[in-house]
This record gives sequence, structure tokens and C-alpha cells, in this order.
Amino acid sequence: MTKFYEPGDKSQAICPHCKGLVATTFAYRNVAFNDGSGFVPNVLVSVCDHCDANLAIPAQSTPAIRRARESASIPLEVNLRAPELEILDTAAYEIDQDATSRFRKPLIAYYLQRLQADATLLETARHDFPIWMEERKSIYARCSIPKRRLSFKVTPRTQALMVELQEKTGWQKTSLVRIVVMLVKRDFISQPSPEALSDLRQVAAVVNA
Ligand SMILES: [Zn+2]
Repeated sequence: MTKFYEPGDKSQAICPHCKGLVATTFAYRNVAFNDGSGFVPNVLVSVCDHCDANLAIPAQSTPAIRRARESASIPLEVNLRAPELEILDTAAYEIDQDATSRFRKPLIAYYLQRLQADATLLETARHDFPIWMEERKSIYARCSIPKRRLSFKVTPRTQALMVELQEKTGWQKTSLVRIVVMLVKRDFISQPSPEALSDLRQVAAVVNA
């Protein structure tokens, strides 16, 4: 059975700062995320009696940390051109007429996940993206096109997915979002995909729940 600790309980642990076995006391402390993106306030941990470092997290504290991780938010900001956001919103409206701009985020997360999971899709995207950007450039050269900032908070999971895809492909964050726009245009406007629509309607049902 897992040991349950009360605040003030004593134990022992190896402290990397004090370089050896030290006496510890369980207490409520702020625990930083490994990636430095934030911290979880007031989690029961074992603290070094000599240098006050957080040394260990008992099993009973992991649900609180997991919950904080899931809900923690990292700002995602990219500058796009107005028609690119209109493409996202056209798809979002088709998926769920009540959740248009709120649905931009799950739409992007959905395509990032597919790019991560489906090597063929990633290859297609890699091949088609330069062609797509040339097309966009020639459209944007026709007249003055307003810039639009796409800005929202993502979960650490989506953030990690973006970083992973960036590392895998060498694409910048803005290119990655533009690739999603390209795929959305294909699946919802150029060659409507019943699978993507049905997948995303299920996502919408969860988002709106
Ligand atoms: Zn110490």
C-alpha cells in the first residue's frame, strides 16, 4: 500500500545540494514544472531540513500536479493575414455554428495531432506547403490585406506537440499554424472531408460540454 504522509511527518532523502542523506519534513510548497513554464502552488512535498530544497513528491500529490499541468496555459501568438483566419473560422462555423472563434484552438490542436501521428500527412504537408505559400503570396499581392493576430492560451500538451513538430520539421511556429490553415482549407473548402468534419464535430461536442 502507498504510504500516506501528513504535513510535518519526518523522513530521509538524498539532497543534491547538501550532497548526502538528509532529514526531511513534509510541507506544502510551490512545485515548478520541469519545463519552467510555471508552478503548482501548495503541494505536499518532502523538504530538506538543512537547505529547504524540495526533494521528493509523494504519490498523494501527483493528482494535484497533473491537474495543474493539464489546465496550465501557455500563450500562443502568431501573426496571420485576414484570409487565413477566415479559413479557420469558415471551418469552425461549419463544425459548430455556436462556437466559431472559440473553436480555432481545438481545430489547430486537432491538426497538430494528426500531423504528429500521420507520417503521410506530414510528408504531404511538407510537399504542398511551399506551393501553398506561393499561391497565398500571389493572392496577397492583389490588394492590401490586413494582418490579424491569432492569440490564445494552449495547454502544455499542445505546446509540447508544437515544439516536437517544430523540431521534427524545422518549421517555425507561424509556418506550423499556416500549414494547419492549408489543411483546413483542403478538408473544409477545396475537397470537403466527411471524416475530418465528423471527427471535429465530436471534438466540438466535448469542448461545448
Ligand atoms: Zn539540502
